[in-house]
This record gives sequence, structure tokens and C-alpha cells, in this order.
Amino acid sequence: MSFSRSVEIVAKEQLKNDIFKFAILSEEMAKVALPGQFLEIRVKDDIEPFLRRPISIHKIDKVKNELEFIFQVKGKGTEILAQKQVGDKISILGPLGKGDFRFENYKNIAIIGGGIGVFPLYELARQASKNANVTTYLGFRSKDFVVLEDDFKKVSNKVVLTTDDGSYGENGFAINFLKEDCNNQKPDCIYACGPLPMLKAVRDFAMENGISAQVSLEERMGCGIGICLGCAVKDKKAEGYKHVCKDGPVFDINDVEF
Ligand SMILES: Cc1cc2nc3c(=O)[nH]c(=O)nc-3n(C[C@H](O)[C@H](O)[C@H](O)COP(=O)(O)OP(=O)(O)OC[C@H]3O[C@@H](n4cnc5c(N)ncnc54)[C@H](O)[C@@H]3O)c2cc1C
Repeated sequence: MSFSRSVEIVAKEQLKNDIFKFAILSEEMAKVALPGQFLEIRVKDDIEPFLRRPISIHKIDKVKNELEFIFQVKGKGTEILAQKQVGDKISILGPLGKGDFRFENYKNIAIIGGGIGVFPLYELARQASKNANVTTYLGFRSKDFVVLEDDFKKVSNKVVLTTDDGSYGENGFAINFLKEDCNNQKPDCIYACGPLPMLKAVRDFAMENGISAQVSLEERMGCGIGICLGCAVKDKKAEGYKHVCKDGPVFDINDVEF
């Protein structure tokens, strides 16, 4: 179930120069939201920018009836969004997507995120860590881009943080540390969100080693509700396409081509 509502921003935090965390108040949305779902945000009541911008749900707080999301300023839409202040109202359609991170039956899980792909994985780690052993791998370009390290430490049994240039944490790609750990113990499932090369590396490794894996695809999209068909990905199991907005954004690696 999703809602189209004008909601109040109840908290704003600047995590980095161009990365902002907002909390919005909506009992309806917080009640039904699932890890892996996203919001379509109208950044301005104007013709331009016309399309809503998709941003993942970072945290669900069913006690305070709040949803948090984190975004990096990329272009016009996110630039306008970043100007909003606590007390302002924004038009949100959500929660959207199937919210299909399936983790309930697993005891050992590995979560791997790269760059802005780490944002939607937090709520998954938070919920999964209640019953499972969670190892989280976070990859960033350099020290300047590192976010949420302490947050993930609170909801993971172990966090491996890497930077491509070695300026903070381990030096190298996060996937290589996940592979190394798998020599000792294979996780029941790997969950990934981040740049496409990272997702492909996770898929190939998981397939070669017979490990289940789910990926969240942040494909460019238009409407967010399956009407414009702009975010099509090839279906692996049947003729035709699936759509990131309504069938995903989380997919089992065996279900779609990417
Ligand atoms: C399901 C989903 C969840 C997302 N969750 C988050 C999130 O939690 N936090 C976050 O910061 N971003 C997230 N994104 C990406 C975010 O939607 C875009 O960065 C944003 O729409 C850009 O809007 P803009 O008007 O600022 O930039 P535009 O002017 O529209 O584009 C500016 C630049 O951003 C690039 N861009 C636009 N859309 C995407 C995209 N989907 N993926 C990669 N690059 C893009 C463009 O190629 C261009 O270079 C998500 C995208 C999807 C589809």
C-alpha cells in the first residue's frame, strides 16, 4: 500500500558537504514501509522539475512514525530538496516498490554497499540483526565520502569499511574483503546496493559459489509506479521485462539481467 501525501520534514542533518539526511512524519507510511522500498519526492510545486525524484528509505521508525532518507545532491532536483528546512512540507508518494529484501530465514548474512548505495541497506541490517549474524561491507571512493560508519556498527556483528584509495579503513574494493571472508564462512545470502560494476561482481561471485543474493537496482526512472516503463530490466525467467519501480528495486540475482 502506498500514499500520496504532503508530509512535514521533522529533522534535517547535513552528513557531508553534499549529503543530507531528512526525517519526515507520516504514520501511514511508517506503518507499512519495508526495508528496500523507496519514496518518490516532488521537490517543488512547479512545472520544473516535473518528475518526482526516487530516494530510498533509510530508516523506518514505527514508534515516532517517521521515515528517514538520505540523498546526495546530483542535479537540479536534489539541489532544491537540499534547501528544504525542518517544518517545510513536501509531497511524497510512497512507500513504493515491492520491498523484497527477504532475510527472515537466514542466520548469516552479508550486506555490501557502495557509495550512496549504502543508504537503503541500513534498515535491512537493523531488522535482520535482530535474528541473524550480520557482516556489513561498506565501500567508498575515499575518506571524504565515508558516511554511516557508526550507524552500521550498531546493527552489524562486524563492519568492514574500505576506500578505493586507502585513505580510510581497508584499502581496496569492498567485494574483495567479502570474498576473502567467504573462504572461512559462506553467508546464507548476500544483499547489495551500489554502482553497477559492484553489483555485477557480487552476482558473479554469488553464482559461482552457490550463494543466494539480492540486489537493489537504482535504475533511472520516470513515474515510479510502473506506468512510464522507463526503468525496464530484462526478465531472466520469462520473455519480456520487469520494472525496477514496481517489481523491484530489490531483485534476486536469478530473476533479472543487469
Ligand atoms: C529506486 C531508487 C532509489 C534511489 N535512492 C537514492 C538514495 O537513497 N539516495 C540518493 O542520493 N540517490 C538515490 N537514487 C538516485 C536519485 O534518484 C538521483 O540521484 C536523483 O533522482 C537525481 O535527481 P536530480 O534532479 O538531482 O539530478 P538530475 O538532474 O536528474 O541528474 C543529475 C545527475 O545524476 C544522475 N542520476 C540521475 N538519476 C540517477 C539514478 N537513478 N542513478 C544514478 N545516477 C542518476 C544523472 O545521470 C546525472 O548525471 C535512487 C534512485 C532510484 C531509482
